[in-house]
Amino acid sequence: MVALNAPTATVVGAGIVGVCSALWLQRAGFAVTLIDSGGIGEGASFGNAGNISPGAVVPYLIPGIWKEAPGWLLDPEGPLAVRPGYFLKALPWLMAAVRSASEEAAVRTSHAMHALHSGTLEAYGELTLGTAAADLIELSGQLYVSEKPDSAQGSALTQRMRTEFGVDAVALDWMEIRELEPCLAPIFKSGLLLPKNGRTKNPHHLVTALADIAQRNGARVLRGKVEGFQFEGAAVKAVIVDGQAQAAQRVVIAAGAASRDLAAQLGSRLPLEAERGYHITIADPGVMPRMPVTNTDAKFACAPMNVGLRLAGTAEFGGLNAEPNWQRTEVLKRQAQRMFPGVRLDSVSTWSGNRPSLPDGLPVLGRSRLFDNAWFAFGNSHFGMSAGPVMGKLAAELVAGQPSSVDITPFRATRFQE
Ligand SMILES: Cc1cc2nc3c(=O)[nH]c(=O)nc-3n(C[C@H](O)[C@H](O)[C@H](O)COP(=O)(O)OP(=O)(O)OC[C@H]3O[C@@H](n4cnc5c(N)ncnc54)[C@H](O)[C@@H]3O)c2cc1C
Repeated sequence: MVALNAPTATVVGAGIVGVCSALWLQRAGFAVTLIDSGGIGEGASFGNAGNISPGAVVPYLIPGIWKEAPGWLLDPEGPLAVRPGYFLKALPWLMAAVRSASEEAAVRTSHAMHALHSGTLEAYGELTLGTAAADLIELSGQLYVSEKPDSAQGSALTQRMRTEFGVDAVALDWMEIRELEPCLAPIFKSGLLLPKNGRTKNPHHLVTALADIAQRNGARVLRGKVEGFQFEGAAVKAVIVDGQAQAAQRVVIAAGAASRDLAAQLGSRLPLEAERGYHITIADPGVMPRMPVTNTDAKFACAPMNVGLRLAGTAEFGGLNAEPNWQRTEVLKRQAQRMFPGVRLDSVSTWSGNRPSLPDGLPVLGRSRLFDNAWFAFGNSHFGMSAGPVMGKLAAELVAGQPSSVDITPFRATRFQE
């Protein structure tokens, strides 16, 4: 419970990052208001694959990816797409991403990812201790599979990154894959087991359960769109929610892929892109892997959830407000049939959501350049469920003026202007 007359903090966005920020802010003694334009956890945090990966130290942008990317772009069923009308707009982001895929940059990114992800299960454990939310998280292990021999473990650089940070990873041959996950088709020749990685049984249930804890601790939850701010000198005085000013002493922007406009109003022009992904969830598939399985050839994840079997993937650039291309979910259905012989597809629901992505693969976390009482916490791209509780902890430390428990220099908003 927060004390009467406690200092107040306003968090914009109730995805995994915003809700975890709210919980840590409460622990630091703040009375929290959490604002979301939609329902709690209904952004990217709703429909992801739920992988919680302390061992996520390998960036997406690594040397070699740009040899594969043109092939993916040309393949209508490939994992990467840029909408034709959006190509010129996306070009600066894509060029910056190419620069981030050098070996030197990838190694730097890997260090920053380790700092954000390695403590994820402990941080979730602290936030959920003694609550029903704890049951939604499991140290399940994760499996990567490839139809090519020696491919699931990735390049030599990838393997070096895992070794450097002591990430447990066991290479498997086709027979060991069959023993571990008998429901998989016998097409996979190489596998990698990451026994210390985990999952949530349902990312949406997890975010709403965490938000329930925050509300029980006194958080005020408002439904409304934050359109802008009122300022007084170098401070935000109020957030404008659906045209109404709400007084704010401290503001954390955790609005996921929609954070770009809000950050710009606070003086930071950031190359944040919406990277659209899709899922299908099969309520009654008739088959179920024991742990999340990532297909490293086609770049999507298959996740056992408490609502069925979910296949999630695709990185599509078309702008924040582009309509989803539901043909993408047809590709996932075909992949389900290829990977899981006998899978039943008569109970499929589909979803699409935007990852908040910056071209160096790292989030933005830090104080606004112009306003002393506004902070940014967004941009976790493919890893937000893994980074969420640590991002929230770091955001709360910043707001409370405490030293950061990890080095946050790699996440500074100003890095794009340097
Ligand atoms: C297909 C797919 C699979 C994925 N799989 C994984 C995975 O297995 N593991 C993993 O770690 N990550 C995964 N991710 C990434 C992860 O989902 C995201 O990084 C994470 O959910 C981002 O969380 P967030 O809180 O920053 O943003 P969001 O969850 O998008 O939350 C932002 C919230 O802000 C609100 N908002 C926006 N603008 C405003 C405004 N102006 N006013 C008020 N509210 C506003 C939105 O309504 C939303 O609720 C996946 C993503 C996708 C798309």
